[in-house]
Amino acid sequence: MTDEMGMWLDQQVENQRHDAQALKALATAMPAPETVEWLTGIADTLAADADSKRRILDVHRGDDREDCAGCGLDAIGLPVWRIDQCPTRLALALAYADKPGYSEEWQS
Ligand SMILES: [Zn+2]
Repeated sequence: MTDEMGMWLDQQVENQRHDAQALKALATAMPAPETVEWLTGIADTLAADADSKRRILDVHRGDDREDCAGCGLDAIGLPVWRIDQCPTRLALALAYADKPGYSEEWQS
C-alpha cells in the first residue's frame, strides 16, 4: 500500500517550511521596523509549527503491517489504529484541508 496521506502530509509540511522562509525574506523588505518584527515573528511561528508537525509525523508512521507505530498497541497487543486511520495524522491533515490533494475521506 502506498501511504498517500503520509506523502501528501510530508509535502504540506515542507511547503509550510518554504512559506516560512519566503515570508521571513519578504519581511526584511518592509519599510517599517514593527512590520518586519511582526512578519518575522509569524514566519518563526510557521517554521516552528512545521518542525513540530515533522516530529509528530516521524512518530506516527506505518509499520511493516500498515499499522500506526506511534499509536501503539492496545491492552491485548493489537494495533490501536491502521496507518490510514491514525487520528493524529487525520488531525494534522485537517490543517491543510484547503490544499490540493486533500481527500474528503480523511475528515474524521
Ligand atoms: Zn498514529
